[in-house]
Amino acid sequence: MTTGRSEHVAAAEQMPVGRHARRASRVLTVRWGTNAVTVGGGAPVVVQSMTNTDTADPIATAIQVKELARAGSELVRVTVNTAEAAAAVAALREQLDRMGVTVPLIGDFHYNGHKLLADHPGCAAALSKYRINPGNVGAGRRRDDNFARMIEIACRHDKPVRIGVNWGSLDQDLLARMMDNNAARSEPWEAGAVMREALVVSAIDSARRAEALGLPGDRICLSAKVSAVQDLIAVYRELARRCEYPLHLGLTEAGMGSKGIVASTAALAVLLQEGIGDTIRVSLTPEPNGDRSREVVVAQEILQTMGIRAFAPMVVACPGCGRTSSTFFQELASRIQAYLREQMPVWRASYPGVQTMQVAVMGCVVNGPGESKHADIGISLPGSGEAPVAPVFVDGERTVTLKGDHIAEDFQRIVEDYVRRRYGNAA
Ligand code: SF4
Repeated sequence: MTTGRSEHVAAAEQMPVGRHARRASRVLTVRWGTNAVTVGGGAPVVVQSMTNTDTADPIATAIQVKELARAGSELVRVTVNTAEAAAAVAALREQLDRMGVTVPLIGDFHYNGHKLLADHPGCAAALSKYRINPGNVGAGRRRDDNFARMIEIACRHDKPVRIGVNWGSLDQDLLARMMDNNAARSEPWEAGAVMREALVVSAIDSARRAEALGLPGDRICLSAKVSAVQDLIAVYRELARRCEYPLHLGLTEAGMGSKGIVASTAALAVLLQEGIGDTIRVSLTPEPNGDRSREVVVAQEILQTMGIRAFAPMVVACPGCGRTSSTFFQELASRIQAYLREQMPVWRASYPGVQTMQVAVMGCVVNGPGESKHADIGISLPGSGEAPVAPVFVDGERTVTLKGDHIAEDFQRIVEDYVRRRYGNAA
């Protein structure tokens, strides 16, 4: 299996941009082997994710990276926090290569990255990008030296970096300085505004410093993550206004379940609509033993429902109401959505353009036929009091009427035939 994203995105994968025209930014390329992922410069917004396994266990981490890549993550970040983790990164990369997983790996460094990268050249070489948090590379003179060491290693290995500032680990010296300067103002800003300004300044100043140290500007992207929606929007608008680096977008510590999804969507949607954000990650807290790939699906669905990129056919389903005769239509909608996602790793290669397909599964005659006609393919299930038949619509035309105990299987077969017929010749 080859996963990860080609430099040349199929035209069909990009939906009309409409109001989502990207802001002008530099182009950064993250490579592993022949897989080159383009971030910024108007390229399609890249979806990324992060593992939650112990990186010192290369097998467990490789399995999760593969799952994330299979779900559509185009870059995957791994924690590199200890000597054991750093020592395992080369083995992790080799394991992924053996498995045919070409997704580039990003190393997430805090506190000791300068030492780990210097002590483990195999790790430095196997990673495709380094994430550096300028807020915790050390204090005082050591901070500058440690930061410079990481940039020097990035230059030597020809790797891009993300300067990733975070609300929870902001450079305290910088913040204290800015608070003092603010106190001297005739009309001081409120503390939150100083904090937001410190995030922006920390990210941009660190990037400029990396350039002064010799890292080309087209090997840098920035992030400045916070956990509150309005703060994130304000910070990224400022970043976008003041610099040309590609921006990695994400609400940090978004939380669990619907709260995490809603908060991430609320923040990212506003910024993406303004053309801000070249790569995104949705930082969901999974349920215990939950599926880590959920964050990839949510990121894709944000982009797809906004009409920015298409990843997998989408199912339009009504919410159901008192007219719904059973839960059958809910089960069918869920079954079809799962089936379509499951097919995508194969369909992506065999049926270019299939990711833009719309499938409607509706609960009764009120909106069923109308919505089904708008979709590429749709089914209108019988509501209460209706005859137990389910008309199917293909390209706006009513074709067959399904009935009996095998409506789900029959409809799935019709979808499969449609995909083969409509998208098979485009290969
Ligand atoms: S399509 Fe029919 S079943 Fe579905 S929400 Fe509308 S009225 Fe209710």
